[in-house]
Amino acid sequence: MTHIYNFSAGPAVLPKEVLTQAAAEMLDWHGSGMSVMEMSHRGPEFMSIYKAAERDLRELLAVPDNYKILFMQGGGLSQNALVPLNLLGHKPAGATIDFIYTGSWSAKSIKEAGKYANVNIAASSTTSVPPQSEWRLTPGAAYLHMCTNETIDGVEYDFDGGVPAARQDVLFVADMSSHILSRVIDVSKYGVIFAGAQKNIGPAGVTIVIIRDDLLGQALPACPSAFDFKLVADNESMYNTPPTYGIYIAGLVFQWLKAQGGVAEMERRAKAKAALLYAALDLDDFYQNRVAPANRSRMNVPFYLKDESRNEAFLAGAKARGLLQLKGHKSVGGMRASIYNAMPIEGVQALVDYLNEFAGR
Ligand SMILES: *Cc1c(COP(=O)(O)O)cnc(C)c1O
Repeated sequence: MTHIYNFSAGPAVLPKEVLTQAAAEMLDWHGSGMSVMEMSHRGPEFMSIYKAAERDLRELLAVPDNYKILFMQGGGLSQNALVPLNLLGHKPAGATIDFIYTGSWSAKSIKEAGKYANVNIAASSTTSVPPQSEWRLTPGAAYLHMCTNETIDGVEYDFDGGVPAARQDVLFVADMSSHILSRVIDVSKYGVIFAGAQKNIGPAGVTIVIIRDDLLGQALPACPSAFDFKLVADNESMYNTPPTYGIYIAGLVFQWLKAQGGVAEMERRAKAKAALLYAALDLDDFYQNRVAPANRSRMNVPFYLKDESRNEAFLAGAKARGLLQLKGHKSVGGMRASIYNAMPIEGVQALVDYLNEFAGR
């Protein structure tokens, strides 16, 4: 059988070791006689799974003690509403949220936030990250929202190690759905970080929220209780039933990440994988990537064939070689290779070999 490499943008590839372990534990977790799916979320077995997952994620991202980690449901998109619902309760009516618009995901965030607040686009570009010196911020804005890796447009923040310089007067909220755990970050620079799990963490259905604890308890009255960050935090993500199986798989991924050498090692690998792939795309004009080199995503690599009439032939040839899910997002067309933490460099090399073969090099 051809070796399969899955380049899906999400839900995406998971480490083989994790899936193998989950399969072995499917019917009987650690001699409990139960599948993880069948356990009470308040029982000692699941509580041990939950605590380990929380502790390992805290260790991997060096999350400071004054931050809470929430395991929620609803996906990354729901956070576009839940963040304003949770942060605007103590703000005057008509408060403004600043946004950096860098592509499709920040566009969705802007649209949703407009239901709850005034929105100001402080800077915009979909082929680069506007330099921080050019951001036109609103004095007294409730917060600044940024999508630090645009999954569709392939634009990733890359100044100051990928993290904007912290500003005392600006509260940063970051959607890190598609690159969390792929690079070292300084959590203390942010008020809120959120990420849907299905890109770099685990199965769809879990959403991670990391929030500085002084921001809890500021929800608007209309915020649904099950999505009130303070209630979720006070109940260790068990105000209502959490996505237990997804948390279990995420926990196995965290263990896998630790065994591989943690986030610094993932960053080293991501740099190597991205360099290999972009070099093949840049060799001549057969393929094109339109993002400014400094902001090219290490996780999501969109590219176009110069001759787009060959798109179907490219995808068919890729599939025949076991290179799956390379079709670009429907809104932008072309191709996209997502090379998350669980994609081995061998998979990127196989794609590069095919890129060269298809280009007749
Ligand atoms: C995938 C993604 C989302 C949306 O996640 P859902 O779970 O589908 O709601 C949000 N933001 C970014 C950057 C993403 O890549």
